[in-house]
Amino acid sequence: METMIGVDLGTTSTETVLFDLQGHALATANIDYPLYQDEPEMAEEDPEVIFEAVVTGLSQVLRQNGASAATVKGVAFSAAMHSVILLDAQYQPLTRVITWADNRAAAAAEQLRQLPNAQALVQRTGVPIHPMSPLAKLMWLKAAKPELLAKTQYVVGIKDYVLWRLCGELVQDYSLANATGWFNLHTLDWDPEAMALAGITPAQLPRLVDTNYILPRIDPAFATVTGLSPETPVIIGASDGTLSNLGVNAIAPGVLAVTIGTSGAVRVVVDQPIVDPNGKLFTYYLAPGRWVIGGPVNNGGIVFRWVRDQLFAPEKLTAEQLHIDPYTLLTEIAAKVPAGADGLLFHPYLGGERAPIWNADARGSFFGLTRRHTRAHMVRAALEGIVYNLYAVMLLIQGVAGEPVAIQATGGFAQSALWRQMLADIFEREVTIPASYESSALGAVVLGMQALGLIDSLDAVAEMVGATNVHEPNKATFGAYRTLLPIWIRLAREVAGEYAAIAAFQRGEK
Ligand code: ADP
Repeated sequence: METMIGVDLGTTSTETVLFDLQGHALATANIDYPLYQDEPEMAEEDPEVIFEAVVTGLSQVLRQNGASAATVKGVAFSAAMHSVILLDAQYQPLTRVITWADNRAAAAAEQLRQLPNAQALVQRTGVPIHPMSPLAKLMWLKAAKPELLAKTQYVVGIKDYVLWRLCGELVQDYSLANATGWFNLHTLDWDPEAMALAGITPAQLPRLVDTNYILPRIDPAFATVTGLSPETPVIIGASDGTLSNLGVNAIAPGVLAVTIGTSGAVRVVVDQPIVDPNGKLFTYYLAPGRWVIGGPVNNGGIVFRWVRDQLFAPEKLTAEQLHIDPYTLLTEIAAKVPAGADGLLFHPYLGGERAPIWNADARGSFFGLTRRHTRAHMVRAALEGIVYNLYAVMLLIQGVAGEPVAIQATGGFAQSALWRQMLADIFEREVTIPASYESSALGAVVLGMQALGLIDSLDAVAEMVGATNVHEPNKATFGAYRTLLPIWIRLAREVAGEYAAIAAFQRGEK
């Protein structure tokens, strides 16, 4: 049987999946690694450990399936966005992998935001101003660790590093370049002004290539270890966020990909590099004529976890003793309360927020509490509040990319029928849960198959992605949600002026 392998370099694990050419997963290897947090706000990974995870993952899926190198048509890569590794002239890492989750560039991002040309920069690069971006990270490093930058010969991302080790060529795809903040998505080339701010030159960056670029050959030593052939084509692929849209079959016009895992996101594919004029959405390259526009959200399922642990600790304990999943128990409790939680609203900003408000000081709140409300109302309001916030991101997307027509939804939330239906009812759109959970790895494989001429168009993904659940919006709930959503949105604006003060108090500032 002919196969393809997708490798997704994630923040805390690398997932390697062997697929048949119809998109069925035949073997999977998920290798975890630590996220280092030696100091506050740090979030780093070890590049060597990630490289080893790739080599091990490749050999594991081949061994599990008993597939021979000759049957593997190609290996395609996906990676988390915004990672930075500094290399010396001998390509040796001078740093670990500084990930998107690393917040040490917060002051640099603020400095960037204050620049008179900041918004023009966002319009050219498609990257919202945030400490996640490599541009902010380099500005921070330039000020905080100039001695390190003096030794730096190359500034690369994790995928560039892994592929350099595996194939001996230092290249970066347009998609991950697009997430750096120093790449112009209109010209598909580096942005001189952004690079000057970062203190780097084009000679320090990998060679730019399209996302369907095929690397020359695998280093024979690693080919032997993994069980691949040196001649197995390696396709560079793209970023995890953009490939996830492809892997869940959300690439047709107006088809939203909504994710609610620990965090969340709403994304749609457009055929032009459209950038949100307010700079609140990202625009990232996927493939020729396909860009992904969307918003990342901090407060997804992690908020439900907080509700479980802080408001329902006794129930959690009981559920665990009875071998019931506490989340399942909690959604059953929430289901007893009507849509709209009898007018209890919840803003889910427990971890600050990126889209739609981009405010690290944002804080959560319940609003509308009465003596009638119970903890059951609170859990329902929390689940609804997470979805209202994603709806607010959708409104921004609609403003630049047009009305959504349908939703492909993924993430841990999809285990709950109540939460899935809530998404359909609040968005008033059909919600489909794709069958495949390895969406970024599958997206990489689809991109790879097109690069190798195995399929004519990325649209072939439609036949590869099945559905486990489909939810139609329930008209009976529209009244409550249509009344409450505008109040929720107005409230979010009303309280925003107080976030900085309450966050300062919480930090112990006078
Ligand atoms: P990650 O984004 O870290 O990969 P997941 O996609 O697994 O995480 O999502 C984890 C989240 O999914 C949890 O925080 C929780 O909110 C939600 N979740 C997990 N199981 C259930 C369930 N049975 N019902 C509802 N939500 C769930």
